[in-house]
Amino acid sequence: MDTIFTKIIKREIPAYIIYEDDLVMAFLDISQTTKGHTLVITKNEYKDIFEVPSDVFMHLFKIVQKVSFAVRKAFNPIGLNLLNNNHEIAGQTVFHYHVHIIPRYIKDDITIKLPNHMNDVSKDEFELIKEKIIAELS
Ligand code: 5GP
Repeated sequence: MDTIFTKIIKREIPAYIIYEDDLVMAFLDISQTTKGHTLVITKNEYKDIFEVPSDVFMHLFKIVQKVSFAVRKAFNPIGLNLLNNNHEIAGQTVFHYHVHIIPRYIKDDITIKLPNHMNDVSKDEFELIKEKIIAELS
């Protein structure tokens, strides 16, 4: 079954479309968490970051930056968050790859505070974590 985003691509349901090419599309997020909240999605139904081919991924982020500049010019936000949730545990609700562009304003109602566990991780553990990731790079 098509995802809700594929239905937007196929014009089966309406959306406020900002940009489209062969690989990606950008449209306003229906929730408008802040003014100008935009999603950039892959045209193909890749479920998450781990399914997106790297050439598509690179192109998508080029468009994320392009749209971010446009949003900044349009609304002059103070800052901007990029957000990409992968898997339910990370807050993903639509299983079709997308990146949120969320402009930030002085009086918006978003609170993002990541817990800091640095005091619970020893230097040896930091080293081990670093080495484990490096071993998987290539
Ligand atoms: P996620 O939670 O997967 O990171 O983000 C999914 C986003 O898709 C949510 O912010 C939600 O508001 C948005 N969304 C869900 N359904 C629709 C829709 O039908 N149209 C638009 N424009 N956005 C949608």
